[in-house]
Amino acid sequence: MTRLAVAGGAPVRIDDDAVERLLRVSPADVPTADAMTFSRNVFLPLTTACRYTCTYCTFYDVPGEASLMSPAEVRETCRRGADAGCTEALFTLGDDPDDRYVDVRRGLADLGHDSIYGYLRRACEIALDEGLLPHVNPGDMSRETIARLKPVSASMGAMLETTADVDAHAGGRRKEPAERLATIRAAGEASVPFTTGLLVGIGETPRDRAESLLAIAALHADHDHVQEVIVQNVTPNERSDFTRPDVETVRRTVAMARAALPPEVSVQVPPNLSPTRSLVDCGVDDLGGVSPVTVDHVNPGYAWPATEELVAVADTAGVPLYERLPAYDRYLPARHRRPGVDPAPDGEWVGERARGLVSAAGVHGARLRAVARRDAPLDPGVDAARAGD
Ligand code: SF4
Repeated sequence: MTRLAVAGGAPVRIDDDAVERLLRVSPADVPTADAMTFSRNVFLPLTTACRYTCTYCTFYDVPGEASLMSPAEVRETCRRGADAGCTEALFTLGDDPDDRYVDVRRGLADLGHDSIYGYLRRACEIALDEGLLPHVNPGDMSRETIARLKPVSASMGAMLETTADVDAHAGGRRKEPAERLATIRAAGEASVPFTTGLLVGIGETPRDRAESLLAIAALHADHDHVQEVIVQNVTPNERSDFTRPDVETVRRTVAMARAALPPEVSVQVPPNLSPTRSLVDCGVDDLGGVSPVTVDHVNPGYAWPATEELVAVADTAGVPLYERLPAYDRYLPARHRRPGVDPAPDGEWVGERARGLVSAAGVHGARLRAVARRDAPLDPGVDAARAGD
């Protein structure tokens, strides 16, 4: 038995035989999906300040150079997204900026906030006002932070990346897997639909990948809250000399994810970073969030594919493509859940204001409910016409 440390809590126990079994899994051993999904979002990098310095990351900016979106920028971006038919406001930001980010802290104070989390909550309210469902990715989160953000969000996320102690997280401000595991557990305790995932190729071994997937599966078994696991390969960029893992490594890891996780947990690959068409027989059933109005601020050198390309990927797998909301079906209130979807255990999973928006009269509620219903698979012809309106 391997014990993985969890900050402030009991360790996650991983059965060594389960690790061995997972290491033997190949794509031929896992079922293929009968449909694929994606989410249409706007990407909001609320701040590029981060207390950590992961060596593969081009998202964070050093003190003095970090940005802080204004409320007006948040509102204008969300409005454009809603006009383009998006459903999700994806807030991705650096982990709680430390005291060296004097400008960012001053900016937050000028806006009337004593922390990035207070401002993130306000930004979520703006997104809801504009008709989008917030999905928040602020890095490590305490129970208190999750409780503060839950009422204004539909779902949350934090990449585990790996449970291994890798040099890519090294330095004086080291990102700790134990903190990420604590965040995933705390989200489960708070009944928050949660997204996490692996970053492949940052110095971890196949065994580390197996342990990471089994740790996620164990936390999900306790709380039923992990809605999707992303298998993301590292990509070359100007800050690092990491090389993209070969296709066979990614294929095996995706298959391991499918084998390690129960069927209700989606396995996602990001279509702007992955060799996606080569992965469709490995258990992938979600193509993540793509945006018609904003770039991928974490990987700005890798453009989102058009929805036509997503349809083509699904075609390669011989399955239809559907749009989904940032919170998966099983976490939606019963009146918005499709017949036949196995619901998550009783509880108010989606935050109160986000639930209210899905139920609301008017154009935004109608748009969100139409996506939740999945009336028909994506028709790229209709989609292209809508984009040109
Ligand atoms: S990967 Fe995330 S935690 Fe690491 S430096 Fe970049 S923004 Fe910060």
